[in-house]
Amino acid sequence: MWSFSQRIQQLPPYLFAQIDRKKREKIAQGADVIDLGVGDPDLPTPEPIVRAMQKAVENPQHHRYPSYEGMFSFRQAVSDWYKRRFGVELDPEKEVIALIGSKEGIAHFPLAFVDPGDVVLCPDPAYPVYKIGTIFAGGEPYFLPLKEENGFLPDFRSVPQDVLKRAKIIWVNYPNNPTSVTATLDFYKELVEWAHQHNIIVASDLAYSEVYFGEEKPPSILQVEGAKEVAIEFHSLSKTFNMTGWRIGMAVGNRRLIEGLGKVKTNVDSGQFQAIQEAAIAALSLPEEALKPIRDTYAERRRVMTEALKNIGLEVVPSEATFYLWVKVPKGYTSAQFVERLLDECAIVCTPGNGFGEAGEGYFRISLTVPTHRLLEAADRIGKLKL
Ligand SMILES: *Cc1c(COP(=O)(O)O)cnc(C)c1O
Repeated sequence: MWSFSQRIQQLPPYLFAQIDRKKREKIAQGADVIDLGVGDPDLPTPEPIVRAMQKAVENPQHHRYPSYEGMFSFRQAVSDWYKRRFGVELDPEKEVIALIGSKEGIAHFPLAFVDPGDVVLCPDPAYPVYKIGTIFAGGEPYFLPLKEENGFLPDFRSVPQDVLKRAKIIWVNYPNNPTSVTATLDFYKELVEWAHQHNIIVASDLAYSEVYFGEEKPPSILQVEGAKEVAIEFHSLSKTFNMTGWRIGMAVGNRRLIEGLGKVKTNVDSGQFQAIQEAAIAALSLPEEALKPIRDTYAERRRVMTEALKNIGLEVVPSEATFYLWVKVPKGYTSAQFVERLLDECAIVCTPGNGFGEAGEGYFRISLTVPTHRLLEAADRIGKLKL
């Protein structure tokens, strides 16, 4: 048989395989499984977006190959949205590119800038694609632990000199999956200054900018002066508009970085279906109030579930944004052990923190992507466990 490439063999084992298997067994046994594992909104895509897609599908102009970088009207809509939402000016021609979902862009980006021997600084715990994209490009991930005592922000100044010399990219993701915290403009300011000093690319993943609960909206790194000289930001319509299935996102920021990503993409894909881009334009053009019901739904679930978990003695990291809760496992358990008990004895699926990296050990993640009554049912079942 053919052996897999080194790059595939290097991938860490899939930690969730056992959970997936057990979950299927439970369902087959007829158990009422509550799945709080996946980060996929249960709410439908808003109506006007669906209508725009229906209309666009009928237009034969959209049936041909799309442009590589995305329709100009889509890039213009992205630029307008950034201006409205963040006060950031973007040249739609050179500083915006369409993505087939932001995961695609995040995975491909290192191919444009990372050579074997280069280091990519990745947060831990984190969305796994930063690390995987690095490995696929032949680079070396170096992990920056996100610790509670640092507000789950990376201590980028702690990177040793020899690593720093080889570092090409640093990934940041706020609002953060899985810890549910946000970053301030001051954090971004310091990061941009440090990146300038050491000639490092800052890649910011802003997938959750619109799923927030406080008065203050989460910022974009591009709001910082000088950020556009060192930063690229990845964004997605998936989480903001309940569009995970549609596969549309964008990268914005420094034109050289956008150009590099574009060079990879023109050689591996041929752009996203233009009817989907039309739907995305409709989404980005919605008034901001249109998102309020979505935010209110998550806010209510978050409030109810945080309280329910606290009442049964679990410690929940105060969630500032995203639709996740980052919860400490009770004393005496590893993340894997506790999550296994939840599945075995409560028929509840959660994600063990170590699945996001070693520094996630001691925590588990709950997705608030089921209705409130199901969250309460889950808390009720957990409450009956003898911990
Ligand atoms: C969901 C998610 C993404 C990717 O979303 P796409 O659907 O590929 O646009 C990127 N980053 C984080 C942190 C996510 O949770």
